[in-house]
Amino acid sequence: MAETIFSKIIKREIPADIVYEDDISLVFKDINPQAPVHLLIIPKKEIATINDISKEDRELIGHLYWLAGELARDMGFAEDGYRTVMNCGENAGQTVFHIHLHLLAGKPLGWPPYTDRMKQA
Ligand code: 5GP
Repeated sequence: MAETIFSKIIKREIPADIVYEDDISLVFKDINPQAPVHLLIIPKKEIATINDISKEDRELIGHLYWLAGELARDMGFAEDGYRTVMNCGENAGQTVFHIHLHLLAGKPLGWPPYTDRMKQA
């Protein structure tokens, strides 16, 4: 797959506000936050979309969700609540083709999460 901006962040070729790293994942602040807390939890493995997740990636994907809960507890918003979102493809508005779990917190988030663009459709 084509290299994305997230691969460059993993390799420290471009800067990011990194809050957590281990052997298989990286967490950093979204550059355009949609909530007081907006983190991106990514695997270091390059996987373009949810459609490209293979059977052997199951533990890795579980790791991303486990990490979301750990971060929520550590950062103190686990009890208040938060949202995790992984967009897939054009209709979901995916813009970076390296899977990432958005972790949004710090205010009531509302539901459904329509964007203006979707409302017009
Ligand atoms: P998507 O729309 O693909 O689900 O989410 C991509 C996210 O990556 C967006 O929320 C966008 O703000 C974020 N993003 C795009 N480029 C960069 C970057 O260079 N650095 C950081 N930290 N976030 C980025």
